[in-house]
Order: sequence, then structure tokens, then C-alpha cells
Amino acid sequence: MPETIIAKCERSGLRMTEQRRVIANVLEDAHDHPDVEALYTRASAIDPRISIATVYRTVKLFEEAGILDKHEFGDGRARYESADREHHDHLIDMNSGQVIEFCDPEIEALQEKIAQKLGYRLKGHRLELYGVPIKK
Ligand SMILES: [Zn+2]
Repeated sequence: MPETIIAKCERSGLRMTEQRRVIANVLEDAHDHPDVEALYTRASAIDPRISIATVYRTVKLFEEAGILDKHEFGDGRARYESADREHHDHLIDMNSGQVIEFCDPEIEALQEKIAQKLGYRLKGHRLELYGVPIKK
């Protein structure tokens, strides 16, 4: 079982206040790519004392510790997901804003090949596709 966000925070030496724990748990349970606003809604439902400023500071802290990955999917809002998720890329539905995760072995291999051709060993990549649904 992968290490929980709280366990990673503790291992990174982050001081885990009660509110940070609530936010960490909300992130742990998130299977979408919530922005600060959405995280705030979920966290403050559990602990109404949590402010949006606390959520901002906490996700920034987690991001800096390498626990969260930050994404921006074209709408200028930062979205977060746990950094230890299995590698995947994202397709963003430009009508609904829905984010679809995918992983394609051909794309993965092609990127390796491109990096190699340019004289690099690939250490990571980010790929975002933007599209609208095809009307049937
Ligand atoms: Zn994702």
C-alpha cells in the first residue's frame, strides 16, 4: 500500500496540525484534480474553522515538499493531486472542464525516443490534451 499523505508529511518533518491533517485527508480521498476552492469546500465541511488561506498555505507547503503535484489545465487555476499516483497524462474537456486520465504506451515510448534522439535520458514529462467531445 502506498504511503499516505500524512505519513509522507511526517517523514518530511512537516509539523502536522489538526487542520493540516484534515486537508491531507481530503487530498488523500480526492480522485479528481481539485483546486484550492474545491479543497476548501471539502475541508471546511469537516472542520469549519479551516480558512481558505490555510488551505492555500497547506497545499503550497505540500507541493514544496514534493508530496503534491500541481497542474494548470488552461483555466489559470492550480489543481492538485498526490505526487505518488501512477504516471498518467491528462485530457481536458474544454466544454465541461472534466479531466480524463490516460496512459498510452506508444506515447510513452515515442517520448523516450525523442529525448534519446536529442541526447537525453528522459526523467519525466507532462502531457495535456485539450479537446471537445465529438458529436455522434
Ligand atoms: Zn491526474
